[in-house]
Amino acid sequence: MKPTHIEHIGIAVKNLDEAISFYENIFGLKCYNIEEVKEQKVKTAFFKVGDSKIELLESTDPDGPIGRFIEKRGEGIHHLAFAVKDIETRLRETEEKGVRLIDHKPRKGAENLNIAFLHPKSTLGVLTEICEDKNS
Ligand code: ZN
Repeated sequence: MKPTHIEHIGIAVKNLDEAISFYENIFGLKCYNIEEVKEQKVKTAFFKVGDSKIELLESTDPDGPIGRFIEKRGEGIHHLAFAVKDIETRLRETEEKGVRLIDHKPRKGAENLNIAFLHPKSTLGVLTEICEDKNS
């Protein structure tokens, strides 16, 4: 697959405002974007750390994916996202290698990235996202 870098690490939080304050006050990072992704029932906040980002995720619905994650496992690291080029091809190659996919086609995620998730049962328990920034 050869990712170019870690695009972001997604962290599930109960309270986005408190989590933003924590990252700003303790780590000295600046939140540069807050965005709701209705389809995923989340509100996200982004921080740049070098070439990578931290994506904080607050559920807008207890039945959404982040709501259920927090209910089961509490707050914490939710997923790892690799930046790739030509996401459609990477997805096909990955499936051909026997990895189970959650998304068979890329879809729009936060920050206008094309994203797709691989199934954690196929990726050593780590929910893994691959994404491509078509703007860059
Ligand atoms: Zn993500």
